[in-house]
Amino acid sequence: MSASTPPKRNSRQGLSTRAIHLGYDPATAQGALTPPIYQTSTYAFESVEQGAEYFAGLKPGYVYGRTRNPTQALLEQRVASLEGGEAGLALASGMAAISSCFWTLLQAGDRIICDKILYGNTFTLASQGLPRFNVTADFVDLTDLDALKAAAARPFKAIYFETPANPNLRLIDIAAVSAVAGRAGALTIVDNTFATPVLQRPLEHGADLVVHSATKYLGGHGDLLAGLVVGGEDMVKQIRMHGLRYMTGSTISPLTAFLVLRGLKTLELRVNQHAKSAAAVADFLAAQAAVSKISYPALASHPQHGVYRKQMIAGGGLISFEIDSGMERGRTFMNALKLISRAVSLGDAETLIQHPASMTHASYGPEERARHGISDGLIRMSVGLENVEDILDDLDQALRQI
Ligand SMILES: *Cc1c(COP(=O)(O)O)cnc(C)c1O
Repeated sequence: MSASTPPKRNSRQGLSTRAIHLGYDPATAQGALTPPIYQTSTYAFESVEQGAEYFAGLKPGYVYGRTRNPTQALLEQRVASLEGGEAGLALASGMAAISSCFWTLLQAGDRIICDKILYGNTFTLASQGLPRFNVTADFVDLTDLDALKAAAARPFKAIYFETPANPNLRLIDIAAVSAVAGRAGALTIVDNTFATPVLQRPLEHGADLVVHSATKYLGGHGDLLAGLVVGGEDMVKQIRMHGLRYMTGSTISPLTAFLVLRGLKTLELRVNQHAKSAAAVADFLAAQAAVSKISYPALASHPQHGVYRKQMIAGGGLISFEIDSGMERGRTFMNALKLISRAVSLGDAETLIQHPASMTHASYGPEERARHGISDGLIRMSVGLENVEDILDDLDQALRQI
C-alpha cells in the first residue's frame, strides 16, 4: 500500500487493527483518542415516551446499567469481531459468563453433556449446581467420539467443553463435536480462554457460543476479573435479557470494560509472544530427565497433536507437566522458583505456576480427579512475558534443587 492510500476500516481488517479501532470514532467523543469510560448506572430519557420506547425495544437506547453501557458495548463489539461472531456480551467474570449461559439455555428436565476435564468451578457448577435445579450434566471424554456418540443417543440440550482444557491441555476437535451436537439439534459451547481468538476461533469450526474468562489473556495484566460470551445475535440477546438481567445480575463495571479494551489492543502481540516463549520452555522441559510427562499442544508428542494442527495457529502460553516420582519433588521444585510466582490464574505478564490437585481443581474430589485424569503430580505453568532466558534460568536452578 502506498503512503497516499487511505486506510480502510472494515471487518476484514487484521485482528489487531480491529482490536484497536473497531466501533469507535474519536469525533463522537470530543476527539478523545481513547474511548471514554461511561461511569453511569442509569440514563436520562428526553421524555416519558422515549423511555417507554427504549423499554419496549422499539428504539435502541440505554435504559439501566445492569444490562448495557456504552463502554461495555464497545468491548462486546470488538470481542465479537475477533471471534467472528454476530454479537457479544461482557460480564463480571468468566464464571458469570458461563453461569449466565447455563441459566438462559437450560431448564429443569434438561441434560447437558460436558467434557470430563473442566476448570474446577465450571465442574462444580455442572456437577453440583445444575442438579439442584433438576438439570443433569453428564461428563464424557470428548476426545473419544464413540463415547460422545453413545452419550448423544439420549436427548440433550448442549455440549460444553474447553480446548485446550484446564489444567491438562487436552484438545477437543471442535468441528467433530459440533457436528454431533448439530445433528441432535443441540448447541455447542466452547470455553476459548486458553487459546484466545488469536490462536483459535471456535465459531469458524461450527460452535454456537464461545465463552471466555477475560480475566486471563483478554485482560492480560492480572488486574481485573471479566467474562465474555460471543455467538448469534438472538442467543446473545437472550443471555443478556435472562441470564444477566435477572438470573445472575453479574454486570461488568464500566472501568473494568475499559481495562479489558486496553488489554485487547496488545492481545495479538502478547499472545504470540506467550506462545513463542512457551514453545521454548516446552522444548526445555521435554529435554529434562526429571520431567516425566509434558503436555503442550504444539509438541508432536501431544496426544491430540492432529487436532492442534486442524484448529490452532500456535500452542498458546500454558504448559502442564509432571516431575518424576510424584508431587513431593514437584513441591520442592515449585518452592525453589524465584522469578516464577506460585499463583493460580493465567495469561498475565508474570509467569505463574500452580498445583491443580490442591488449587484450581481441588473442587474435584480425589476419586473424581483420578477418574477424570487429573493426576496429583500435575503442575500447570502460564508462561509470561519476561525474557525467556530468565524464565529458563529460573526453571533450571529450581530443577537442580530436587
Ligand atoms: C479462570 C477460568 C474460568 C473462570 O473465570 P473467572 O474469570 O475466574 O470467573 C473459566 N474457564 C477457564 C478455562 C478458566 O481458566
